[in-house]
Amino acid sequence: MGVAAAIPDLDRLRLQRAAYAAAANVPDPEIPVVTVGDLGILRGVELDGENRAIARLTPTYSGCPAVVAIELAVEAALREAGFEPVIERVIAPAWTTDWITAEGREKLAAYGIAPPVETGNSRRALFGETLVSCPRCGSEATERLSEFGSTPCKAQYRCQSCLEPFDYFKCI
Ligand SMILES: [Zn+2]
Repeated sequence: MGVAAAIPDLDRLRLQRAAYAAAANVPDPEIPVVTVGDLGILRGVELDGENRAIARLTPTYSGCPAVVAIELAVEAALREAGFEPVIERVIAPAWTTDWITAEGREKLAAYGIAPPVETGNSRRALFGETLVSCPRCGSEATERLSEFGSTPCKAQYRCQSCLEPFDYFKCI
């Protein structure tokens, strides 16, 4: 392939990256410190030859009212970036909290929400139940106060060391 033929490919790659970034940077409506990219719900963005950007999104919790809000926000972000947005909802494989990126977990903890424990975590397997660390002091002496926190996706915990209550992003 000659240089002349390679240039359109580079343009396409740049556009592809711009479309992906526009979609990935959309904040979660319930926890605005994390983005759609951080949550791992953006499965990909593809461009067709017509300037259409096809964003594939996997809903988090089924029935979560945020699903439609996220789809509309991604659509708006792509349109603002100059693309004709198409949203595709991908339901299989189902999203799990394991898809949340390392950066997303750090952002949740910094915001005061204990990030979900990964399913492959040996401590979780060892104890048979989730060991939730306090996002403020790191103590593992925590107790669950309620199955539901400020949203159905979260549970309410309290740290027995620093006595602060906090939300835990539930594992699925
Ligand atoms: Zn604590």
